[in-house]
Amino acid sequence: MDYKASDSIQDLQYFGEFGGVNPSISDSSTYTFLSAKTMFDTFEGNTEGCYLYSRHSTPSNLYLGEALAALEGTEAANVTASGMGAITAVIFQLCDTDDHIVSSRTIYGGTYAFMKNFLKKFKIGTSFVDITNLEAVEAAITPKTKMIYCEAVSNPLLEIADIKALSKLAKKYNLPLVVDNTFSPLSIAPGKLGADIVIHSLTKFINGSSDCVAGVVCGTSDFCLSLKDVNNGAGMLLGSTMDSLRASSILKNMRTLHIRMKKHSENALYLAENFVKDGLRVVYPGLKSHPSYQIMKDQMTEEYGFGGIMTLDVGSLDQANALMELMQAKNLGYLAVSLGFYKTLFSAPGTSTSSEIPMEEQVEMGLSNGLIRFSIGLDNDIHRTYKTMKNCMLELGILKEAELSK
Ligand SMILES: *Cc1c(COP(=O)(O)O)cnc(C)c1O
Repeated sequence: MDYKASDSIQDLQYFGEFGGVNPSISDSSTYTFLSAKTMFDTFEGNTEGCYLYSRHSTPSNLYLGEALAALEGTEAANVTASGMGAITAVIFQLCDTDDHIVSSRTIYGGTYAFMKNFLKKFKIGTSFVDITNLEAVEAAITPKTKMIYCEAVSNPLLEIADIKALSKLAKKYNLPLVVDNTFSPLSIAPGKLGADIVIHSLTKFINGSSDCVAGVVCGTSDFCLSLKDVNNGAGMLLGSTMDSLRASSILKNMRTLHIRMKKHSENALYLAENFVKDGLRVVYPGLKSHPSYQIMKDQMTEEYGFGGIMTLDVGSLDQANALMELMQAKNLGYLAVSLGFYKTLFSAPGTSTSSEIPMEEQVEMGLSNGLIRFSIGLDNDIHRTYKTMKNCMLELGILKEAELSK
């Protein structure tokens, strides 16, 4: 990949209302017009640079949207009040009653529940497939299919979508490829690999401070405008609007994203490699043992690494819970869902973020009960973290001295 998202972000320039280096925050829900005609035109969507009402757009949200479009290399981006606000708006914009979606089966639990349960109300069906099996993806496409949906790096199993290949397939059937890139900002630029729409939960790495929920839809100007349409736009009409104050704080946090991603990746790779040497069952896209290691390597921007998420299977839910409690007691991180924080976060997805997925289906997709998902933090001394984590596992008998010395 030669697209340098961090350069595009670096090259953005801001002059606040009074020359401030940060853009001024728009603190209004509604905007005045000097002429009634301009107000009418703005309703029709015809006046660039005019603001109408803050559910439609705000200067602060546009600034953040501009930075996120630069991140993904898309023409435009609309920010939303949460990642789910972005995902649901995109689905409703693309699908009508009786339509059909082909989706990866390893996706965020909330997205899975929305497709599987909520969309029933609209008779929209979803075929959940193994996204790494292109024949299965193709076989699931029907004349009613309106989109192919996946995560670039999947939650929580860290499957890697071959975005170029999926995009080729999507184009063959004239379908939009929608990619949730929450796990791999900067590392993967799905829009540059052929995805039509890129979604993020900004809640995670991009904001990076676990102080808000937020989301974004990145795509063509036409698609982003259609979401804002006052008559038919799912973004505008479902009302998942980001507040301007929050947009401004996320924009400021985004400026360190490239530095944070490198450190998250460096730390995660260090732990993954060492835990593998210790004989533990680790999944991390940067390990040669990962089934899609090569695909990840081919589509990633090397310098940001393989990302900050790894999983460890400790065999049983009891062991997973005991380990997480002990690690929290040793201040190695927090027993908490979510990701992208400066501290390590860990949770057992089977009983938390993926609990929406029925047990039989969890088993089928390889989501075992003893699986712990780690979002590795920005620890300066990762070797010290490694030693302390290992001691926790020795104490609980997950690791045994005898095996270590082999
Ligand atoms: C958290 C998450 C979401 C949902 O985002 P919210 O901001 O919580 O609404 C969607 N996709 C992925 C991959 C996530 O991790």
